[in-house]
Amino acid sequence: MEAQIYFDNSATTPVDPKMAEKMSLFIRECYGNPSSMHKTGREARNAVEEARKQVADLLHANPGEVVFTGSGTEADNLALVGVFDTFGDIPFHLITSKIEHPAILESCRYLEKRGADITYLEVDASGLVNPVCLEKAFRPSTRLVSIMTANNVVGTIQPIRELARITHQHGAIFHTDAVQALGRIPLDFWGDVDLVSVSAHKIYGPKGVGALYIRSGLPLEPLLHGGGQEAGRRSSTENVPGIIGFEKAAEIARNNMAGETARLVQLRERLIDGILERINNAYLIGHRHLRLPGHVSVGFAGQEGEAIKLLLALDEAGIAISAGSACSSGHAAEPSYVLQALGFDPLKARGGLRITLGRFNTVAEEERFLDILPGVVREMRPITSRNIASRSNVSKKKWNKGELMIHDSEITGNELRAVRLPDL
Ligand code: PLP
Repeated sequence: MEAQIYFDNSATTPVDPKMAEKMSLFIRECYGNPSSMHKTGREARNAVEEARKQVADLLHANPGEVVFTGSGTEADNLALVGVFDTFGDIPFHLITSKIEHPAILESCRYLEKRGADITYLEVDASGLVNPVCLEKAFRPSTRLVSIMTANNVVGTIQPIRELARITHQHGAIFHTDAVQALGRIPLDFWGDVDLVSVSAHKIYGPKGVGALYIRSGLPLEPLLHGGGQEAGRRSSTENVPGIIGFEKAAEIARNNMAGETARLVQLRERLIDGILERINNAYLIGHRHLRLPGHVSVGFAGQEGEAIKLLLALDEAGIAISAGSACSSGHAAEPSYVLQALGFDPLKARGGLRITLGRFNTVAEEERFLDILPGVVREMRPITSRNIASRSNVSKKKWNKGELMIHDSEITGNELRAVRLPDL
């Protein structure tokens, strides 16, 4: 496989080789079921409990407060649905923001169907939740607040400590989705929050394993019922190699975070300056400073409808980035709900490009990107949903959920191509 310059570290990170080494050793040699009583089983149990300590360390938590899950999405679902279920028939109001990941927003929609009232807070033009707005949203029936630590589309970092403090003054529970923040910024709110979701694949670990921090003593109903693993909070035989991979990724993240954060901030600032200097219609999206270290989100004035075309042209040139809208709901042809919440009109909200740098990116890669990008932006021609739909052969094709049909001749000279757009 020919390697691309990988600037999509918010979608997922490449695995750290040291992590992969440890994981593959455990896949081969530590195959026991941690619930078995024999030596092979006990070895697997010990490995899982050692891993729990390491992940707890990165979370500034006690090992007993960490429940391993199958993903960040599952951790988010467990937090919201698990709290809701502890309240039974008691009125339940939940406050969240309009820019949360679909793992939160879709859980909210599910809870609405089950009778919960949900308030979706507005954010300002940089993506920040205003603590005063949170304060005003409380009702006597508010039980839970869920605000993400850092946004996956625009990278904005929220004032979590302050939001959690207000929440507790109103006697409610505070959850934060820290999937994008873990290992990237020091999380200074530990002790102030009740529930925190994280995921291994954003910190150079394996996919398909996450964790939920549950403050000691907090009641929470499980989503999965079965053999009672994870202290009854998540039944299912533990994903031992995945958990071991998470352990190693957490250890590396904790040992390297200070240096890595500083280096990524430097790379980010060079990239932002380089784009704004070289492309005169470029503008930065999100907060100028309160943003994740490697996270750059940009738009190009007047060319917002062409973000997907730009992404594909960069892909052809060997560079992997995301369109901001690709993270909205799997419908890149639709405007990004996150950008709309920041005040972008629907056309402009199709135009964010997300460039996210990580551990393995170099200055040389950044230079190459800065050399290529201005030419690619200049050569873009509009490709709007209007001129796609007007072609008769397109309308005969089925547009599946989550697919953007593009007229590929604009890019490669081929006929038509359906591009599958995942939630990231
Ligand atoms: N929350 C945020 C903010 C994310 O960015 C993601 C993944 O992109 C998730 C949750 C879901 O995590 P996972 O991919 O582990 O299900």
